Amino acid sequence: MTELLRVPHTMTLAWRYGTSWYFAEFIRALRDERRLLGLRCPACRRVYLPPRPVCGNCYAELREWVEVKDSGTIRAFTIVHTPIIDPTSGQLRPTPYGMALIQLDGADTTLNHYLAENDPSQLQIGMRVQAVWRKERSGMLSDIVHFVAMNNEQ
Ligand SMILES: [Zn+2]
Repeated sequence: MTELLRVPHTMTLAWRYGTSWYFAEFIRALRDERRLLGLRCPACRRVYLPPRPVCGNCYAELREWVEVKDSGTIRAFTIVHTPIIDPTSGQLRPTPYGMALIQLDGADTTLNHYLAENDPSQLQIGMRVQAVWRKERSGMLSDIVHFVAMNNEQ
C-alpha cells in the first residue's frame, strides 16, 4: 500500500467579506441582539431565512423584516464522514458530524447547519431542534454552535 505524502502548510489570508444591506442586517441582529431575522415577501408572504433580496417564487423585492425563532424542524439531514477544514476556525472538523436543513419556526425556507447528534439512528425528518448559541457572538452563523434535539414533543 502506498503511503500518501502529506505536506502541512498554513496560509494566512486576511479578507473582508462584502455583504449587501440584507445580509448585513441579518448578521448585525445575530451578533448584537441574538435574534434571527428573515425577510417576508409582500406578495406571497413567504419568509426567507437566510434573508435574500428577491422572492424566488414571485420575484417581488423583499423589505419586511420578521423575527424567526431559534427552534425548528429538521427537513433533511446527513452524517458527514469526510473531513473538511472548518472555514470558521481553520481547523480540521472532527468526523463524523451531523448536518441538517432546518426550517426554523416562522420561516418558510431552510437553514443549513450543524447538529450535535451524529448517530443517524437518533435523527429523523420532522424532528424538533433548538439552537445552541455561543456566549460570545461575532456576527457569523457559527454564533450558533449547532442544533440539539428538543426534549418536549411539539
Ligand atoms: Zn413571493
